[in-house]
Parts: sequence; C-alpha cells; structure tokens
Amino acid sequence: MTQSLLDPAQPVGEFDHLERLLDAAPHLMNQLNTDRYAAELASGIEAVVQTFTTTNAPFTGRTPADVSVAIDHVDLDSPLHNTRDALTELQDVYLRDAVYFHHPRYTAHLNCPVVIPALLGETILTAVNSSLDTWDQSAGATLIERALITWTADRLGLGPDADGVFTSGGSQSNLQALLMARSHAGATSSNTPTTTATAPLATLRIFASDAAHFSVQKSARLLGLSEDAVVVVPTDANRRMRPDALSAALEAAVRDGLAPMAVVATAGTTDFGSIDPLSEIAALCGQYKTWMHVDAAYGGGLITSLRHRNRLSGIEHADSVTVDYHKTFFQPVSSSAVLVKDARMLGHVTHYADYLNPRGEVLPNQVNKSLQTTRRFDALKLWLTLRIMGADGIGAMLDEVIALATQFGAEIDATDDFELAAPPQLSTLVFRYTPKTKLTVTQDAIRKAIFASGEAVVAGTVVDGEQFLKFTLLNPDTSARDLRAILDLIRRTAAQLEQRGVQA
Ligand SMILES: *Cc1c(COP(=O)(O)O)cnc(C)c1O
Repeated sequence: MTQSLLDPAQPVGEFDHLERLLDAAPHLMNQLNTDRYAAELASGIEAVVQTFTTTNAPFTGRTPADVSVAIDHVDLDSPLHNTRDALTELQDVYLRDAVYFHHPRYTAHLNCPVVIPALLGETILTAVNSSLDTWDQSAGATLIERALITWTADRLGLGPDADGVFTSGGSQSNLQALLMARSHAGATSSNTPTTTATAPLATLRIFASDAAHFSVQKSARLLGLSEDAVVVVPTDANRRMRPDALSAALEAAVRDGLAPMAVVATAGTTDFGSIDPLSEIAALCGQYKTWMHVDAAYGGGLITSLRHRNRLSGIEHADSVTVDYHKTFFQPVSSSAVLVKDARMLGHVTHYADYLNPRGEVLPNQVNKSLQTTRRFDALKLWLTLRIMGADGIGAMLDEVIALATQFGAEIDATDDFELAAPPQLSTLVFRYTPKTKLTVTQDAIRKAIFASGEAVVAGTVVDGEQFLKFTLLNPDTSARDLRAILDLIRRTAAQLEQRGVQA
C-alpha cells in the first residue's frame, strides 16, 4: 500500500485522516461532510423559499442609511458559529431589503427572473468548483463550455470556423471583442514597438451609434485609444444606426487619415431595444475592410425566439458578437459570451505561461481564449437549461415579453397623459408622464418616489436631453394589468409630490 507523503504513517485511501481533518476544518466540503452540506444548503433554500413566498413587493424602499444600520451592527470578528443564526441575521442585512427581479412590478433594468434549471446548475458548479482556465482544472466542463459556444455560434450563423468563450458579462465581451479588433488592425503604440505596424494607435476609430452601450467608450479608454476614438453615429426615429450616416462617417475618417478599427452595431440597444440594420452595416464593413462587432448583449436571446429570430438577420456577417445569457436567456448573473467568426482571432488574447498553459500543449485550455484566468463554469447553467427546458422554452418566454411590450406600447400610445419616446422594438418601453395640466415635478422625482415606496421599480433615462421613464420587460409573469397599475402609481405619485411641493 502506498503511503501518504503528508503523513507517512497514514495509508492513502482510508478516511481516518479526513476524520481528523473534519475536527480541524468542520466546514470544509468533502466526502465526510456531505450531510452538513445537504442540510445547510437545504436551510439556505428554505430561507429563500420563505422570502419568496412572503415578499409582496419588488423592494422595501429602505434607504442606504436604513439598511446600513443592520450591516454596521455586525462584528465580522465575532462569528455566530451557527448557520441558523447567520441565516436569521441575513434577513436583516440582505434578504428583506433586496430588490426582487422575479416580482411582476420590477420593470427597471435588464435583469431577468431566473429559471430553476439554471439555479440547479449554479448549485452544482459551485460545489464542484471547476475552473475553466485549463483542462487539468475542469476536464469535461471545458467540453461543455465549448459545446455551448458552438451551439450559440451555429444559431448566430457564424459558420464552421467560429469559436468563442464565456465571459463575466457584456462589458467584458465587448472589451475582448474590441481588443481583438485593435490587434487585428495591427495597431502600434510606444509600448508595443514590436507589433507589425499598420496603423498607429492614435489614429484608430470605433464607430457606434448614439444608442450604443457605454462599455464601448470604456473599452476604448482601457485599450489606450485616443479620447475621441469612438465616433458616434446618429440614429433614426427608431433609434437604429443610420447606414447613410455610418457611410459618411467612415468616408470622412479615411479622408482625414484615420483608421476605422471596428464598427459596433447593437442588436438590442439598452434603452430602446432597437436593432441596428445589420446587413447594411456588414456591407459597409466589407467595403472599408473594418471589423464588425455586434453587441447583442440584450438581443442575443432572439436566437431562441420562435417568432422573432429573423430580426437578427445579418448578424451572421459579424466578426465578433456579444451575447449575455444573463439577460434574455433567463440565466443568473453572471453568464455571457464573446463569439468570433474566425477562431484564430482569439489568439490575440493568448499568453503562454510555463506553469499553466505551456506553448505547444495539446490539451484544450480555455485560458488561451480568455481575458480571465480562474473562471467560473457558468456554462453549466445554460447546459442544464437547454437539457431540461430546451431552447424553445427560453424563446417562448422571450416572445411573451416582446408581445407584452408591443401590446402595452399601443396602450400607452392611446392614453392622453403618457407619451412614448419611440415605438416598442424588443421588450422595453421608453415613455413619460405628460398630463394636461403642466407637471411641476420631474419624471426623475416621480421615479425616485416610486422606488422609495417599494411598490414598483421603474427605470429612468434621458432622451435628447429630456428625462423619460422606462419599463424593461423581461418577466413573462408581468401582465398588462401590472403595468396599468404602475401607470396609476405614477399618476398618484406625481399628484402627491405636487401637493407636497405646494405645501412646502
Ligand atoms: C447590458 C448591456 C451591456 C453590458 O453587459 P453587462 O453584462 O452588464 O456587462 C452591453 N451592451 C448592451 C447593449 C447591454 O444592454
């Protein structure tokens, strides 16, 4: 029998040493502690069930000052040594005052209620704790992630040479896509004197619409591009990038000696859900030999839609695509991917480390494709979702919220005291309260007062310098009746605020 190197007296394969370990580390997850694991997770699930069954509003409306009282009260150096007490305390410090996305009157940001198969996946992936950087830390998890990348790329129509990798979110996916585009443009800077130069860093330009996500600007800054690297292309009345304006902007840039590095088309803008004209943009990218990135963080879910899949047509021409599973695939945070048409482009982020992924190793090491090193096995959530519900199950829920947005958009349009900023396009509605008698309070003041009431959560945004309110609909459990109730809440809240303003 082999002897353990750690304790030469102890034969390997017997559990005595683990029993001693249990005394030293009673909370460690291992084969002797599975009863504790099962019991404690069950009590955590019980706490969540309790909260979900007794919560009747999306939020309690408590302020940061209110909530901090309970948190400040906790002495992190005085452990409770008891799971039940810790869970009881968690009610005060977190669960009671959390914001609940599953509630039908949560209509603010791009947060989705999550599906149970994904929660099952979350439980399993954290217990096994695979890390997706190298094969020797993940094994089959690597192949599952790869299968889901292939599945996504196939549905996007990216072709046989496509690849990609899971990321922490759309912002990271956009950053990685633009990093690849920058390297592909062969940019040089004073720090990278050895790159085969084609375009100096300062001349690179990214073209994105005025409705594109701010992570494009942030990525440009992180990539060391110049302050004015992002050329903002105007949109039409539906908030879609105008191809004629893009064409003019590309032409002007080239005339000025600048180098178009990428065009970022958005498939589902954060505020309006608008989908840029992808085929026309692809043609311009071809003409100017420019990288086409499609930010489908929001609209990517349409690849599962039974009714609206064709809205993504043209996306198959993209050099890279961002898809956020934690938005329109009903997955828990975090779960996203960046995909590329040509797998070799992922090589722009490869770095070989002797200890981890040495050059020439034949094993599938996902770290070669990722900005991250240690990385969660988020793909398992989508895997179990597809295996249990199927893609059509996701698509049906998405179709439901798109239908609600369309229907309720028409309803808002028919009122005489609310107006829409643009026709509904995916599952958001941007609107404002415009009663006959001129409002003396701002849309933002109404939104904040509603948040403080906890009765509903509504988003706010600014359109052409004016404040608007926004519904982001991702909950198939939200009905037109809920939205009507929120409109009434807006009317009542505005009246109360005006009354208080008069008294003050
Ligand atoms: C949400 C969003 C992002 C950012 O994604 P995160 O997952 O929040 O980092 C990027 N682009 C668009 C269009 C988005 O809606």
